[in-house]
Amino acid sequence: MDLNKIPKIELHCHLDGSVRPDTILDIANKDNIDIPTYNINELKKYITAPEECHSLDEYLATFDIANKVMQTKENIKRIAYELLEDVSKYNVKYIEMRFAPLFHMAKGLKFDEIVQSVLDGIKEAESKFDVRGNVILCCMRHMSADDAIFVIEEGKKFLGKGVVAVDLAGSENLNFPEKFKEAFDLAKSYEYNITIHAGETGIGENVFKSIEMLHAQRIGHGVFAKDCVKSYQMLKDMGVTLEMCPTSNVQTKAVNAYEEHPLKDFLDDDIRISVNTDNMTVSDIDLDREFKILNEINKLTEEDFKRIYLYSVHASFASDEVKEELRKYV
Ligand SMILES: [Zn+2]
Repeated sequence: MDLNKIPKIELHCHLDGSVRPDTILDIANKDNIDIPTYNINELKKYITAPEECHSLDEYLATFDIANKVMQTKENIKRIAYELLEDVSKYNVKYIEMRFAPLFHMAKGLKFDEIVQSVLDGIKEAESKFDVRGNVILCCMRHMSADDAIFVIEEGKKFLGKGVVAVDLAGSENLNFPEKFKEAFDLAKSYEYNITIHAGETGIGENVFKSIEMLHAQRIGHGVFAKDCVKSYQMLKDMGVTLEMCPTSNVQTKAVNAYEEHPLKDFLDDDIRISVNTDNMTVSDIDLDREFKILNEINKLTEEDFKRIYLYSVHASFASDEVKEELRKYV
């Protein structure tokens, strides 16, 4: 099978983790931004996860440089545009890109300017490439609950205009659902869709807690639901889709190797999954290569990829009209 020709959906892709290395260098030169090196090959070492990455925290440290070049409207718009252009080459028909607006306010940009710049980039790319895009706003776990409420309040005006959901991302600990309950009650009352990073680093209980306490309709990663009976059963009973990112999971040591990734077992047991890159630059991956690995190592078949596509369309936060169009590709 020609894996490139298979239509694909990206539901879990971080904008700041997917900036082209050339673009980081170009913007740094143009805007006199201080980065550790101006040599493209050296730069790639700084912005991709090290092969000997020991944890999620080490992985997350690689995002800092990209965020330095995402502090003007023009640059943010360009980076959003380029992400759609890039994924269209892998036959991605629809992408939900996510980013944390609070990371882009360091040089004075206002919240609305940041979000609007991303939406402008998406809109321009949609007119040129055969791909559609929407936005998920990330709240960060290491920040305060008030920061999350700020993002939810400020983002509200963009609902129905390209922003479709909120997410909670970053380093995972045991009690984050309690900390952010009030914020996500508010998000639900505003009719945001909700997806939460959970069960990425060994704590399977966070999956059911995110569904029960934070109203998660989808779960980012969810690898460790395999070790928590209650989470596993809830995913099954409620048909909650996992946004799985195999390469990222290998890098952050969520699994030791592709062979140990539970994704094929989940799929065979009728757990709904989608397949995603998480971060194209940080993980140095694209969906074509991700599919190739899954085909060769995890033995996913063409039929599996079709199921994953349809699960992804179903779980996407796109409008019913867009979903209907997306289903026509398979
Ligand atoms: Zn993620």
